[in-house]
Amino acid sequence: MAEAAGGVAGAPQLRPRVLVVAGTDSSGGAGIARDVETLAAFRVSASLAVTAVTAQTHAEVRAVEILKPALVAAQMRTALEAGPIGAVKIGMLATADTVAAVAECLEDWPDLPVVLDPVIASSSGRPLISEEGIALLLARLLPRAALVTPNLPEISILADALPGTPDPARAGLDPDDAAARLLAQGCRALLIKGGHAEGREAVDRLLRPGVKPLIFRAPRHAGSMRGTGCMLASAIAAGLASGQDLPMAIAAGKAYLSARFAEAGEQSLLHSFSGQSVPAL
Ligand code: PLP
Repeated sequence: MAEAAGGVAGAPQLRPRVLVVAGTDSSGGAGIARDVETLAAFRVSASLAVTAVTAQTHAEVRAVEILKPALVAAQMRTALEAGPIGAVKIGMLATADTVAAVAECLEDWPDLPVVLDPVIASSSGRPLISEEGIALLLARLLPRAALVTPNLPEISILADALPGTPDPARAGLDPDDAAARLLAQGCRALLIKGGHAEGREAVDRLLRPGVKPLIFRAPRHAGSMRGTGCMLASAIAAGLASGQDLPMAIAAGKAYLSARFAEAGEQSLLHSFSGQSVPAL
């Protein structure tokens, strides 16, 4: 039988697949539940390497169990060998040992695009990675990633943690300065998410060394939704695994998030008409 591009003619096409390296959130508001639902919305399959199990409500993190780094590496290796994997999405890493295990494993798949969401804390304020973990993430994963997706608080924390930060009292206050320092550290592409800023639009900026910055605008939605960082990074990884370039994958990811915000707004309106209250997701 003649082979069509990508498989045997008439046979069902394999969906692209993303390996998610991240933590679980029992509330479903963030972490792997968000990653998998986002990938499914893009018709992309998920393989998993669970780094930590967390017990959370939408307001607090009650318990965290960190999986052994060797088990994280074993999950990654078996997933990558079972493959084919088109991209990797990294979320919560918890410890320096886990960062090291993940970085070491990725060395054997040097061409695989990696989207790194630098998860530092839950919105409720609980740290989800140690300080040593942040330092190693900067040294080993930042230069390996095809894209790093910090929000404004995260980019300050990352830049402040770089070796040789001149004056910790004022370091990281200026996101442009922080971005320049991260790019100088070997970061290939930074998407600075403006969700924590103010104004009618949420403006994200894609910065790459030697390339004109690209701006992505979306209307700022009232209210907040948990797990938006997980969703955007997974959506971008889905795009990369499907063969899109970085700007196209980001634009599609932003459009997906806008649609989810609109849907959440409609649901809360419906619930308020029916007198029920819904938790802010
Ligand atoms: N919990 C886990 C397991 C996560 O991976 C993340 C973010 O990626 C969070 C919590 C933080 O999400 P949020 O800011 O919505 O609390």
